[in-house]
Amino acid sequence: MERIIDKIAQSKRVLIASHTNPDGDAIGSLLATGLFLAARGKETTLFNESAIPAVYRFLGAVDRVVNRLEKGCAFDTAVVLDCGDLHRVGRAAPVIEDIPVVINIDHHITNTRFGNFHLIDPEACATAEIIFYLMTAMKAPVTLEIANAIYTGILTDTGSFRFSNTNRNAFKICEQMVALGVDPYRIAQQVYGTYSLGRIKLLNLALDSIEVSPNGKLSMMAVTQQMLRETQARPEDTDGLINYAKGIKDVKVAVLIEEMAHDGRNPEAPIPYHVSLRSNGSVDVAAIAAAFGGGGHSSAAGFSIEATLPEIKSKLLGLAEKM
Ligand code: 5GP
Ligand code: MN
Repeated sequence: MERIIDKIAQSKRVLIASHTNPDGDAIGSLLATGLFLAARGKETTLFNESAIPAVYRFLGAVDRVVNRLEKGCAFDTAVVLDCGDLHRVGRAAPVIEDIPVVINIDHHITNTRFGNFHLIDPEACATAEIIFYLMTAMKAPVTLEIANAIYTGILTDTGSFRFSNTNRNAFKICEQMVALGVDPYRIAQQVYGTYSLGRIKLLNLALDSIEVSPNGKLSMMAVTQQMLRETQARPEDTDGLINYAKGIKDVKVAVLIEEMAHDGRNPEAPIPYHVSLRSNGSVDVAAIAAAFGGGGHSSAAGFSIEATLPEIKSKLLGLAEKM
């Protein structure tokens, strides 16, 4: 922490980035960091490759997030947030690799320790928790905009204080954010009460796709591009759907298999999928994801794979027999 504070003090042009297909923590920690470093007089660029989901667009400074980097920006420092490995930032990874000082701030147990300085705490409920400590150590004032961003990061990454990463600090920090003026009802309404009709229609199809392994320990849900088209849902509308599959009695591991956008010219060819895994705590899904080249936390992880849907399902059903 001290070395990172020192490096930040010396920095002038800072690139701050978080992972593609951002969730509330990737966005909340990006905005909080961008806002507090800008308040320190740093020239800041906030980067996320993906569009910011509509439900998070109420947050302050969200319009400052760019999805491409101009050639020749001479950043002296990069701060990479909520990324277990550098590829999670997407296309900007090679640009970041060339920045002299790369600071890696994260809470994934599988973090690859990329970059020059690491602030990695797998016990933290969210990257936003770590950002709050960094700000506290730097005596940076927490404005209402920053407080909203930190609160949103913790609220969403803990599944509204329900997931196994929910810790005392989640409540302690959120209590402080509320004391600073955060309105929990307003944020809950923004994040969970402004869904598009398409998302609800997609939920219907996704629920219908659920299959459970013969031993009842694994549930699988699938979302195809066809389902997104049919319901006019956006890719972000799959966020959180997996929790329905996880909530089934006796299920130890829930899986969401999501077909990614592709040209689809050859129907026989393997298709890019993103697979999300959630566990009830009895199975380490970070290890399963890592075996497929992905990563995450012991109870929430994911990986990408090119295959066919039946191939993915049969691999996962094979794992279920050993649970
Ligand atoms: P989700 O299933 O919501 O995409 O991700 C669950 C958790 O696993 C998140 O903490 C996310 O950062 C991590 N994760 C998901 N996909 C990947 C991946 O392809 N690689 C790595 N390293 N982590 C992933
Ligand atoms: Mn996170």
